[in-house]
Amino acid sequence: MTDRHVKVLILGSGPAGLSAALYAARAELAPVVLTGMQLGGQAALTFTIENYPGFPTGVGGPELGELFQKQAENFGAQVEFDTAHEVDFSKRPYKVMTDSGEYKADTVIISTGADPNHLNIPGEVELTGRGVSYCATCDGWFFKEKKVVIVGGGDSALEEGLFITRYASSVTVIHRRDEFRAGAILQKRAKEHPKMNFILDTVVTEAVGSDKLKALKLKNVKTGAETTFETDGLFIFIGHTPNTQMFAGKLEMSELGYIKVNNKMETNVPGVFAAGEVADPHFRQVITSAGMGAAAAIQATRFLEASTVPYGESS
Ligand code: NAP
Repeated sequence: MTDRHVKVLILGSGPAGLSAALYAARAELAPVVLTGMQLGGQAALTFTIENYPGFPTGVGGPELGELFQKQAENFGAQVEFDTAHEVDFSKRPYKVMTDSGEYKADTVIISTGADPNHLNIPGEVELTGRGVSYCATCDGWFFKEKKVVIVGGGDSALEEGLFITRYASSVTVIHRRDEFRAGAILQKRAKEHPKMNFILDTVVTEAVGSDKLKALKLKNVKTGAETTFETDGLFIFIGHTPNTQMFAGKLEMSELGYIKVNNKMETNVPGVFAAGEVADPHFRQVITSAGMGAAAAIQATRFLEASTVPYGESS
């Protein structure tokens, strides 16, 4: 059973967590990063990242995550394959209960990210992994020469849809409005792609199939017309929900469940910081998450330097 006391404990290993680790390690605070379920966070599930500076021809999501990790470890950060499931922020040192035991931490940086939203339609849960997916990089390969549907109208939907055209014979984007939320460049690329088709003003009401997905029931929201659309794959990209359940009642959060931070990444609990998508419903970029992580670690360093309470003693 783990029973450790650390100066900086970082929850989550996406761009925010690993950037925080780099900065805290360089401040000689020997940070420990708990990876959570997905090493590298959501960025590691992205096939190519084209908008992170320093990589003019793009970089693979998993590769960028590995580089972040290596750089942080080079300066003394420790990355543990462990997941936090309960916290006690009532007094310092703060306690974090994990799969492997318990950590006591003088400061905590929360970078637990967000998970993809579900449509909550009949058949969705039963057919997940049998045609229904939330990750193109993970599952796109299974749809070689198959028909695929994407639900959503944001950047994720069009970006991931374009990615799946590498494999699928056709990619049909189904969106509930007649205008996309996605940026102009992605819209242009998607509309010009010969494998991509669009069904607008339409929602998916059911995923049909027993052992694997066979079809979707659709409803036009303007006419009310109901149709059935045969497909092998359904990829759902309709936004995210922050991973903040374990902080409910312990930290101030927005109505949507994002942790509230000020511009120093401070939460309402002294010594507890949040960075990346868990505290940012707005930008959600690798670069902005990395920046927030760095800021959180700088502030955690200052907090420890200014703290009148010696490490390890409760205030
Ligand atoms: P998003 O921008 O919130 O878009 C979600 C899409 O799903 C919207 O089109 C929304 O429709 C639709 N939707 C939501 N709930 C739905 C439901 N129950 N049924 C059907 N459709 C539903 O989410 P995102 O695409 O994941 O992007 C999130 C953020 O990350 C954005 O700020 C985006 O710019 C950023 N991002 C950027 C990149 C990039 O720069 N390359 C890539 C990925 C994501 P409505 O439009 O009608 O609300």
